[in-house]
Amino acid sequence: MTTNPKTLLDHFEIDPKKSLGQNFLHDPNALEKIVASAELMPDDVVVEIGPGTGTLTELLARAAKKVYSIEIDERLRPILAMQLASHKNVALVFEDVQEVNIPALVERQPFVVVANIPYYITSAIIRQLLESDHRPRRIVMTVQLELAERMAARPGDLSLMAVSVQFYGKPQIVARFNPAVFWPRPDVASAVIRIDTYEKPPVDVPDEKTFFKVVRAGFSQKRKQLRNAIAGGLAIKSEAATALLERAGIDPSRRAETLTLDEWAALARVYAAENAD
Ligand code: SAM
Repeated sequence: MTTNPKTLLDHFEIDPKKSLGQNFLHDPNALEKIVASAELMPDDVVVEIGPGTGTLTELLARAAKKVYSIEIDERLRPILAMQLASHKNVALVFEDVQEVNIPALVERQPFVVVANIPYYITSAIIRQLLESDHRPRRIVMTVQLELAERMAARPGDLSLMAVSVQFYGKPQIVARFNPAVFWPRPDVASAVIRIDTYEKPPVDVPDEKTFFKVVRAGFSQKRKQLRNAIAGGLAIKSEAATALLERAGIDPSRRAETLTLDEWAALARVYAAENAD
């Protein structure tokens, strides 16, 4: 039986929907690469987001104990039912992933996420997964190359996105795909990002809320010196922002993208200490 997405969709007379980011992977090497990057163990529980025609799902089902596949497009139900009929360890959930309570779905067991979803919702889904009180052990996601590079950036080039991801886990780019591995071809290059999440934050923060309040303030004004960004973002005077940064050992004329996670944490600690009741 074929697993070629185009053949399957043609057979069921389904047109791919651009609005749902339906670019299907048809290259066996790319699919193998994604599964290998997930380093699944036979006891693993996997949440797959956007199974499409089930090509990746099948490989995941062979490698893991249980696969929950969340797909928004009901039209794909007959294809997925047919393709996965022999894989009793796959549970199909037809819903918008953003509406799904994933911790409840996996019954709060440890789990790994594998996803190839539309690029316009990648950031929102990464946030949904990382900010959860039951986050995945690992995320292996096919994303726009540019976003993968942004998440895995080093100090000097960090963004709010990079700090947010790196606070929760260690991101690494494990593959780069050119548009030809998909059908229909997307307009942009893609990459597979793997994020191994931490049990505890890698830096010493007073609490997550204060840490992100300070980081968001720092990145609130692009390309401005930190003293101005922090003053604007925290609604304090420039002198107070300067003093805060100096107490954290950070030169106030630096820019947000140059700070390390440790430096953001130091700033959050000083801010929390000064604003304690
Ligand atoms: N995994 C398949 C593959 O690699 O060939 C399909 C990938 S395709 C890029 C993205 C899939 O995500 C589509 O099947 C699409 O219908 C589904 N999708 C889009 N938005 C979604 C959402 N909000 N929740 C769940 N699935 C979604």
